[in-house]
Amino acid sequence: MAEPVNNKPRLPDWIRVRVGGGSREFVRETLSDLRLNTVCSGALCPNLGECFCSGTATFLILGRSCTRNCKFCAIAYDPHPAPPEMDEPQRLAEAAVRLKLKYVVITSVTRDDLADGGAALFAETIRELHRRLPEAGVEVLTPDFNGDDAALRLVLAAKPTVFNHNVETVERLSSSIRTRATYRKSLDVLKRAADSGFGVPVKSGIMLGLGETDDEIRQTLRDMRSSGVSIVTIGQYLQPSAEHWPLARYVHPDEFAAYGEFARSLGFTGVASAPLVRSSYRAGELIGR
Ligand code: SF4
Repeated sequence: MAEPVNNKPRLPDWIRVRVGGGSREFVRETLSDLRLNTVCSGALCPNLGECFCSGTATFLILGRSCTRNCKFCAIAYDPHPAPPEMDEPQRLAEAAVRLKLKYVVITSVTRDDLADGGAALFAETIRELHRRLPEAGVEVLTPDFNGDDAALRLVLAAKPTVFNHNVETVERLSSSIRTRATYRKSLDVLKRAADSGFGVPVKSGIMLGLGETDDEIRQTLRDMRSSGVSIVTIGQYLQPSAEHWPLARYVHPDEFAAYGEFARSLGFTGVASAPLVRSSYRAGELIGR
């Protein structure tokens, strides 16, 4: 464990935020021109520089504020967000065309205020991307839609390349850290996606460093695998501010490598396990694209 400084663990050498130039400004200008949000900046992602430089962005649809208030998340809380913008799928597809993306990741805030949780807008965005960029992969990272099966099936029927829903943390910490989402409900969403018959690979992820134990991490990986998850991401939790859930520790890269090995031994076919891994980090590479 890193030495504490002012009661907070010191940032270890392996946590470094990459900074770059290159096409970053073009990406920013395109997103701004088309009034699009990215999770890259909204969630203070440490890979922002690297992804923007390689012409990649994870789009955040359905607004910039969330009806939930998870204690680990940097996205702003608003119980009454503005209505969704129905032309967002077209604007997003236009950005993907201009940026010449080969693999597009779409995620959203959680919209408990909408009857379908925003599933119809997810589906329309997938369809629009398939229409404008038929060769591109389209991965969706969705909320739990409150366990609504019709909403889940609406998204899957639009044929994303990968369906992703994050378990986020181990069962014991889930109710303290997540809002309204539960560990079991997330596993159920994953299992229903895997068993849906749509043939879409299912992905999930967890953060480490929130206070979980080794046994709990391994059990969570087993639970995800037995729920039909075939692709997994494991990354370091970074506390967004002093008001967020306190960081328990920085997990050493060797430990991440060991959890990656363990995941492979369980039969996961795509595994990314390292401190700076995030749900959508090198998402295309994880499925060989
Ligand atoms: S539901 Fe998702 S976007 Fe909303 S606060 Fe929780 S983690 Fe953040």
